[in-house]
Amino acid sequence: MAGKVWLVGAGPGDAGLLTIKGREVLSQAEVVVYDALVSGSVLTLIPEGAKRIFAGKRSGNHFLRQEETNRVLLEEALDGKRVVRLKGGDPFVFGRGGEELELLVEHGVPFEIVPGVTSAFAVPAYNGIPVTHRDFCSSVHVITGHRRADHTYDIDFEALVRTKGTLIFLMGIAALPDLMNGLLAAGMDPDMPAAVLERGTTAKQRRVSATVGTLERVCSEAVIQTPAIIVVGRACALADTFAWAEKRPLAGVRALVTRPRELVSTLANLLRERGAEVLELPAIRTVPVKDMAAVDAAIEALAEGGYDWLVFTSPSGVGIFFDRLIAQRDLRALAGVKLAAIGQGTQKALLRYGLKADFLPSVYDGETLGRELRAVCAPGSRILIPRAAIGNHELIDKLEQGDRLTVTDVATYDTEYASPEVFDVRGMFERSPEDPAPGLDFAVFTSASTVRGFAAAVPDADFNRVNAVCIGRQTAAEAQKRGMRVWISERATLEALVKRVEEAADELRIEN
Ligand code: SAH
Repeated sequence: MAGKVWLVGAGPGDAGLLTIKGREVLSQAEVVVYDALVSGSVLTLIPEGAKRIFAGKRSGNHFLRQEETNRVLLEEALDGKRVVRLKGGDPFVFGRGGEELELLVEHGVPFEIVPGVTSAFAVPAYNGIPVTHRDFCSSVHVITGHRRADHTYDIDFEALVRTKGTLIFLMGIAALPDLMNGLLAAGMDPDMPAAVLERGTTAKQRRVSATVGTLERVCSEAVIQTPAIIVVGRACALADTFAWAEKRPLAGVRALVTRPRELVSTLANLLRERGAEVLELPAIRTVPVKDMAAVDAAIEALAEGGYDWLVFTSPSGVGIFFDRLIAQRDLRALAGVKLAAIGQGTQKALLRYGLKADFLPSVYDGETLGRELRAVCAPGSRILIPRAAIGNHELIDKLEQGDRLTVTDVATYDTEYASPEVFDVRGMFERSPEDPAPGLDFAVFTSASTVRGFAAAVPDADFNRVNAVCIGRQTAAEAQKRGMRVWISERATLEALVKRVEEAADELRIEN
């Protein structure tokens, strides 16, 4: 049976600007063919296990020619696959989307088009420029600054000037002097406001404002980074009043978050809410241990009343334990047993089973949990801790101090580390002369295992360049050990961690 192709607009960069339909289709993809313009934060949404094919054309990377891309789409679809062709912005706005469909139509391969948020309108919006405004203009025009094969432009400058509308040039940076001269020669007022908007909707967005008469000079001094659009029109002047993106507390910050693949990323969302661009590195996967005999024995003992306390140290630990419990017995096995959770995330995981933790430590780390739980347990209490095979020792050591309690530590899951395939994390911590801003400002870690996951995913990275914001001392110690520069959030909540990222970002701004 033939598969199907979805031509999906990935939006201009900010992962939040991928449409809901685009995201759904992507989550079901078996093959994803993507461009250089698709941002890292969208690429991390590609499902694990999907085949990824890069069809971009940037700096020395291997890339597919247009005909090859067309052919790959056809072949994968004929092979029965669900193929997503992911393109920057909207696939039909200067995206050659039409060309990619021709071969599919010829072979009767079914397809759908999922429009995207085009950079032509979204990038001005993120700079506070309304592309139409009743007082200034009554039309907006999107024009390519790309030259034809014979190096001439297919642009009617007189017609453009006559419209008095907002003019938006895509792919126009190399042609900027020609475009401005073309407009001036056609009679445009040299004082007409104009702007170049770089890398819009990403953390590295920047606006260079000038006039049609001065834009070329101002840009040559400012060293423009691509991708960028040129906007010409009176609406550009409104950016001074309406600019908003750069006013957010974490504007300009690009952070990497390491998370277990299966967890929804609350941390990433909190950072995004404050204006950061977030790349999610799904480097850690938790998998149940292969041999479940010890877990099953513990569940049996639990059901027979053999334990007084059940202690959880991570949300994954809760999920894996209850999956097994429900496969073997059911929740009644817990009757009369008290529950302890290391922190709020773990507590929330328990709530999904309708259970509330009887005990949470004052500081969310293993040592405090052990010390404080020991103080509240009756002498002789029997404690079961189903958790990671590589769980830390401090918890057990503290609980066992004084020999009042019996502690059973059962490994329920292993942590596996996966490498990111879609973007070059290592390179992102380096600065280049052409692009002095580092690709990543921070890595944000919520546990020692996220640090280990990150380090395993990018083993050859220069960790001395990594700025790490960490929850708790154990996490920080793991980062420090590798030479990272560390900021610690003493309070172990995601809100406190995000606050710490803000403070760290302020410090770095002052240093720069
Ligand atoms: N289909 C895309 C456009 C592809 S043409 C869309 O709808 O957005 C590529 C051009 O888009 C670039 O040369 C640049 O002018 C513009 N562009 C794409 N993403 C951009 C971004 N984040 N910031 C500024 N310009 C961008």
